[in-house]
Amino acid sequence: MARAWHLKSRPSGMPTNDNFEFKETNLPTLGDGHIRVRNLWLSVDPYMRGRMNDVKSYVPPFQVGEPLEGGAIGEVVESQAEGFAPGDLVLHMAGWRDEAVVPARGVNKLPSLGVEPQKFLGVLGVTGATAYFGLLDVASAKEGDIVFVSAAAGAVGSVVVQLARAKRMTVIGSAGGEDKCAFVGSLGADRVIDYRAGPLLKSLAAAAPEGIDVYFDNVGGDHLDAAFALARNNARFAICGMIAGYNDPNPASFRFIMRIIAARIRLKGFIVFDFQSRMDEFYREMGQLVASGAVKAQETVVDGLENAPEAFLGLFKGENTGKMLVRL
Ligand code: NDP
Repeated sequence: MARAWHLKSRPSGMPTNDNFEFKETNLPTLGDGHIRVRNLWLSVDPYMRGRMNDVKSYVPPFQVGEPLEGGAIGEVVESQAEGFAPGDLVLHMAGWRDEAVVPARGVNKLPSLGVEPQKFLGVLGVTGATAYFGLLDVASAKEGDIVFVSAAAGAVGSVVVQLARAKRMTVIGSAGGEDKCAFVGSLGADRVIDYRAGPLLKSLAAAAPEGIDVYFDNVGGDHLDAAFALARNNARFAICGMIAGYNDPNPASFRFIMRIIAARIRLKGFIVFDFQSRMDEFYREMGQLVASGAVKAQETVVDGLENAPEAFLGLFKGENTGKMLVRL
């Protein structure tokens, strides 16, 4: 038997604890090509909110009554798959539970980069890859650019700040509250905006009197609108996430969207998995930046599988600095 969090009901607006159910689930017998994994670390991510809605998207929705899924790091405890042995540390998608039997196809052994295993859910995982490819490829950010990044104290945002600094860009980060802003400053951001302290457009105009060349969007809403307003000619926007709208049935409208035309803004959405074939490049480059200390990996750790929904809900209340993780 394993213990797993299931989707009890689909949330409307902000999810609550009532949308989750913790119960035992049978593990299938270990078939050929399968491994049994004991989870050590779970990732909770804002995109999981979208999977709770019954809508078609780039990943299928979670099913009511079924276990939730998500990135996890675990230890192989039994193997019927070639190339996997007990003791191996692996990255897989059967999160939200303590133990799982999974097909070895689609499971990755952790690359040996000499870092703690949970880093592969954060700075050396989807989080870091999102920051890396979003900034450098999708937004084509380069030395000398003025980069604005929202949710800059969060998992992706904090890596964007550090990458941009390492590549000699000017960085403006926004975050909620004094402590988070101090953290963003400590990562090397040139200017920091506390979006809770006043109207964002006014704060961004003061922080970027010369305008912005790149906007890395994690928030959408008023942040995206302010970026439209302050974009310099030929600005590039990497549209990574819009967390301000995930629980909002009436998403914001944009006052300054027409500046896309006059300022010739290039706006591109992306999904990190678009860059799967370039993960070797990512491990090489980001591995070096992490090893040299140029990119630091901040984590907020919640202990105990029973607290996984709290960790997830905390993402929408700003309870994390850096990557939100659950340790089992
Ligand atoms: P974060 O670690 O940034 O956690 C979420 C943070 O967002 C919170 O800590 C909070 O910070 C901020 N936030 C929450 N609600 C609001 C709001 N209403 N307005 C403004 N800020 C808010 O999460 P991730 O780094 O994992 O993800 C960041 C974004 O990137 C998300 O939108 C996510 O969906 C997206 N994403 C996209 C991927 C892709 O492939 N396109 C891959 C991975 C992530 P604060 O306290 O500062 O408000």
